[in-house]
Amino acid sequence: MKANEFNLLYKPDEKVVYTGDFGQTHIVKLRTPAWDIPSGSTLVSMEGYSGGYLVDRISKCPENKITLLELNPQQKELYVLHDGTKCPYCESNEIEGSSMDVDGNTAWQKITCLGCDKEWNDIYTLTNLVELES
Ligand SMILES: [Zn+2]
Repeated sequence: MKANEFNLLYKPDEKVVYTGDFGQTHIVKLRTPAWDIPSGSTLVSMEGYSGGYLVDRISKCPENKITLLELNPQQKELYVLHDGTKCPYCESNEIEGSSMDVDGNTAWQKITCLGCDKEWNDIYTLTNLVELES
């Protein structure tokens, strides 16, 4: 995740879960927004820890998953940018789609997150067709 994406989802002073080298998890407080470094990694600093830590080690605190109720336009944009593969609320990859409903040139599909139990509709628009041999 790049700094600009991370900073949309996490704010300084937010309590998060940090996963250490051996898989142990700590609740920590973010101290700064994240920043990108030339090697391509993204770092963030945390209270009580010196230096920067990889943002890949950071995840949402379970209590914050519940309080994040409404998405802002940037979060929706990010969801579409990722082709709808991650829950926009808790970032879980464990999301499930039901069957597709179509009305005119629009289709929608109800998606359920198995991580946080949130539900939403994905919206699709007709863009093209493929001819079939007859
Ligand atoms: Zn979720």
